[in-house]
Amino acid sequence: MNTNFRKLAITLSVIAILSGVAAAQEPPLKSIAYRLSMSRPVSHLFEVSMIVELPEQLKDKPLQFQMPKWSPGRYAVFDFAKNVQEFRAAGADGSKRAVTRVDNQTWSVAPHGDTTLSITYKVFGNDLSGTFSQLDERHANYNGGSIFMYVVGHKPDPVRLTINPPAGWKIVNGWTERQGQTDWQFPNWDTMIDAPTEIAPDWTQETFEVGGKKYHVVVHSFGPEGGKRPALVKDIEKVVRAEVAMWGPPEFSEYTFLIHYAADDHSGDGMEHLTSTQIIEPGALEEPGVYSATLGTVAHEFFHVWNVKRLRPQELGPWDFSRPLATRGLFVAEGFTNYYGHLMLRRAGIWTDKAFLDRQAQTVTRIEGAPGSRLMSAEESSLSASFIDDAPHAQAVNLNNTSISYYPKGEVIAMVMDLLVRGRTKGKASLDDVMRDMYEEFYLKSPNSSYYLRGRGYQPEDLERIVSHRSGVDFSDFFKRHVRDVEVLPYDEAFAYVGLRLTKSQAKEPFDAGLSIQFEDPREGIIENVRNNSPAEDAGLQANDEIISLAGKNVTQDSWRKMLAKYKAGDSVPVVVKRDRRTIKVNLVLGQPERFEYTVEEKADATAEQKALRAAWLNGK
Ligand SMILES: [Zn+2]
Ligand SMILES: [Zn+2]
Repeated sequence: MNTNFRKLAITLSVIAILSGVAAAQEPPLKSIAYRLSMSRPVSHLFEVSMIVELPEQLKDKPLQFQMPKWSPGRYAVFDFAKNVQEFRAAGADGSKRAVTRVDNQTWSVAPHGDTTLSITYKVFGNDLSGTFSQLDERHANYNGGSIFMYVVGHKPDPVRLTINPPAGWKIVNGWTERQGQTDWQFPNWDTMIDAPTEIAPDWTQETFEVGGKKYHVVVHSFGPEGGKRPALVKDIEKVVRAEVAMWGPPEFSEYTFLIHYAADDHSGDGMEHLTSTQIIEPGALEEPGVYSATLGTVAHEFFHVWNVKRLRPQELGPWDFSRPLATRGLFVAEGFTNYYGHLMLRRAGIWTDKAFLDRQAQTVTRIEGAPGSRLMSAEESSLSASFIDDAPHAQAVNLNNTSISYYPKGEVIAMVMDLLVRGRTKGKASLDDVMRDMYEEFYLKSPNSSYYLRGRGYQPEDLERIVSHRSGVDFSDFFKRHVRDVEVLPYDEAFAYVGLRLTKSQAKEPFDAGLSIQFEDPREGIIENVRNNSPAEDAGLQANDEIISLAGKNVTQDSWRKMLAKYKAGDSVPVVVKRDRRTIKVNLVLGQPERFEYTVEEKADATAEQKALRAAWLNGK
């Protein structure tokens, strides 16, 4: 496929030159070979070398090498180039070539008539994460986007990768075909960085088959597993079966779950790839909650095999890594995946009906209680991904009050849309059908729009068209109000179709006064956020104030809301905070209760038809 496409690309570029309409496209490089070494793991320095063979036409032109500013799946701009050091270039005879740093992500080499260029550089990596990379005495685990530069203008060219592991360390990734493999050929750079790789002496691997496809569960544990791994593999298989039952057979022949138990209390991530996923849990497998957290991430990431990695918003590949991603579609890509991740835990028999419905109610509580959900739409949230997807902020920001994450927002949109389709069609159609229609139209049946991947991407308008077509109901008003604007979703109509009711009630502790407090230590509370137009803001409290006392008493993580719950609207509560070197005393005047919780309950008068619709929803019919 790739060879044919390349011939076509060359033909097209010749036509462009002849017609003089478009700028000539550069011919592909003759070869690009990467070598990754790790001779000194304690230094955390990955050693990268690249051998580039140039066609005659390019040997007198400068060649630029670029580190991406971010990598697919995590949309904050991290500037991986900040960890690059010792970039060098040499000709075929080993003599040095001049290097110019063009900007903060680009190095330029003047080839001086060379048809072979050799590049070397090192990258520091000490984060165990699906976004970054780590090399230490225990292992190397990398996300290619944070390690490998591309040749500017030549991302579509085929690449070869060789890895030199330390003695006794074994390599595994989603492209591994045989034991002891150290060389890979990838159709292009984008695909190479889509294969996160683990290199260590002591990871484990278990394999199961579903529908003739092989699934590998690779686990690297930095803490005790408590004998839970065999059960985990069985439960992962249940999740795979539930998701394959919805989508049909995936197009790969093998898939790899790369799972790390970091046992460091802070490393946690899940990242989707074409034939693998990288899952990092901060705890150890034997610890309470870690097993179920792993399954939650597995259900989410495996759903991305279809939704995101293949069925994708138009802007998701090939990417321009010199600037932040701009797509309106992440509420579908991530939010719908969040919804289905939870639904699939139910369909796999891992969650009960109640566990799933409670989770949906929690998401509604989170969305409806967040001030940003009345200010930022699902599409605007998607476009703001580089600000809100784990982005670090050096300047003070008000995003806690003004933004909403496309994960939970997209999840509630998906849930309501699913129930509306099921209800309005009396069970003849569902969001499952809509997703399958999208997959068929955009991934399976559309002509390839680029070198990178089969099919083409969609826009939110395409989802609007397909959901309307499948349900026979015009969804344009729904998209206008709830996707492009911030109106409250029609929860009541949606839940009623399946004999359920969403109930809003005052929280047990009805006041937070607009404060969120972060406890690094259970007895030391720092104000993390002050909601706009809240009692806390009226009182003059600010983010980063340290709470010394509330109503004359010390506050703890467990006590502070209980302390406020003893008061009623209109009461004044003395608060003492420390701000820099000043001690400040204020009176917090409580307003009306502001904390509410939503629950999903069975309707007393639910009909048999509604119960049947509910069973079909939860069981995947
Ligand atoms: Zn590892
Ligand atoms: Zn995701």
